[in-house]
Amino acid sequence: MKIVRFETAEKETGNGIIEPGPPARVFRLEGDLSGEFRRGEEVDVVRLLAPLAPPAIYALGLNYRRHADETGIAYPEIPVVFIKAVTSLIGPDQTILLPIAGPDEVDFEGELAVVIGRTGKNIPRERVFDHILGYTCANDISARDWQNRLQKKQWARGKSFDTFCPIGPWIVTRDEVPDPDSLRLTTFLNDQVMQNSTTGDMIFPVADIVSDLSRSLTLLPGTLILTGTPEGVGFTRQPPMFLRAGDTVRVTIEGIGELANRVESER
Ligand code: ZN
Repeated sequence: MKIVRFETAEKETGNGIIEPGPPARVFRLEGDLSGEFRRGEEVDVVRLLAPLAPPAIYALGLNYRRHADETGIAYPEIPVVFIKAVTSLIGPDQTILLPIAGPDEVDFEGELAVVIGRTGKNIPRERVFDHILGYTCANDISARDWQNRLQKKQWARGKSFDTFCPIGPWIVTRDEVPDPDSLRLTTFLNDQVMQNSTTGDMIFPVADIVSDLSRSLTLLPGTLILTGTPEGVGFTRQPPMFLRAGDTVRVTIEGIGELANRVESER
């Protein structure tokens, strides 16, 4: 099942279940995303929003072997965790804004995101999937100059500007993704392939990430966990490549979908 948040011509918003088509059809989602839910009547939608409003966004750094290699940093022995502000969230086809505050080195990071469905704390590794609602595509937009220089390697602010967490276009429920640790992940910048890897290159697989995080905090329904990015990001290239107004970035994950966002300057 593919879960969306939709907006109608009358500006009504709600959760829906999409049949991508073409043509795409959207049905109202009846019930509770953290419990039982089912497909209701069909609804006319004008656009899809971010598929959920997460209570928290956690993300992993350096979780792909070949990405750690390209940065020249040793493989982490424990998951490297940081927080992205929930205010950075945008949905499919919404615009990534290059901030007035001045980062010139705004980069893309295509990532598989896990969506928590049921509250959990100290979740054993073998019970992790009982707590997962599903998966979506994410782009961990990062201002490298803030991340590395202006903020002296504190990552949270450089990764938390408004619009810096595009997700979507929908959440694919976990029953349709039997092995999240072997999915092809491709990121395009204006149709040029920038990242082309699989989640099989992750140092810590999904079960380890969720189990480990839940040792220190309660994972609430709707919590979003970005699982790290593979090699090919802009700042490690020679010469470096950063996002510019007018660009389009697309993150495609096998069995999940494609998330596309245009880039513009903030005014
Ligand atoms: Zn990332």
